[in-house]
Amino acid sequence: MKRIGNVIRAQGVAMKLIEEYGFRRPAEIDLDSLIIDRGVEVRRGALRGCEARLVRIGQRGIIRVRDGVVGSPRSRFTLSHELGHWELHTETQAFICTKEKFRDYKTDVKEAEANTFASELLMPTFMVRPLIQSNEPTLRTAKLIADEFNVSLTAAAIRFLLETKHECFLVVSKDGHVQWWLSGSDRFGLWMESKQPLGPETLAYHLCGGAEEATQPEVVPTEAWFRHLDAPERLEISEDSLRLGNTGVVLTILVLVDTD
Ligand SMILES: [Zn+2]
Repeated sequence: MKRIGNVIRAQGVAMKLIEEYGFRRPAEIDLDSLIIDRGVEVRRGALRGCEARLVRIGQRGIIRVRDGVVGSPRSRFTLSHELGHWELHTETQAFICTKEKFRDYKTDVKEAEANTFASELLMPTFMVRPLIQSNEPTLRTAKLIADEFNVSLTAAAIRFLLETKHECFLVVSKDGHVQWWLSGSDRFGLWMESKQPLGPETLAYHLCGGAEEATQPEVVPTEAWFRHLDAPERLEISEDSLRLGNTGVVLTILVLVDTD
């Protein structure tokens, strides 16, 4: 994936912390203690219009997280992202981070860097890479990562996308429409329309409609997901989709295979 920001630096700062604190296994990544030790206080409460924010007062940092986010695997990514701003962006006094910022790797440099930092801190390359390389490019692998590293399935799937050698797309759909997507491949020049409706040929379409969970990835017509292809016959795509509880949200990994 083509990413913006100083990816190497953001990853390096996280790696340095992992080394300094001696984290060797996923279970050892004690985020709450780490945050306190870095001089940052976490407060939980009502927040309007954002998920979390960081305020810097001299040597002291205060992260405020929205109540609903607290205590979930998702909150670990949120907190790590804010810690990322604290460690990386020392010249900025405040950050207000909306839901969209936590998946931004391509638009806003500082948000992309905070996400790269968070991804590395919670799922360090040396721990996660062997898992990704020895497993199929599927949501099952993302689930393995989520369980092992105590992060949300979405955070795990994005980490998978950043690390895998397969050419993949990650798509999140809701109520029959694509909500957002990330591309792990630039080679094919593929893209999706914003709010693109899901075609009935996709597995996600049926899962959004309440169908039983699909258990296996399936090859689906390329045009079902990519409507702007010059030569769809040159590409084959395998779709793996999963509904996230009863939220109406469907997560999809598309693996692209060049048939030339
Ligand atoms: Zn942010």
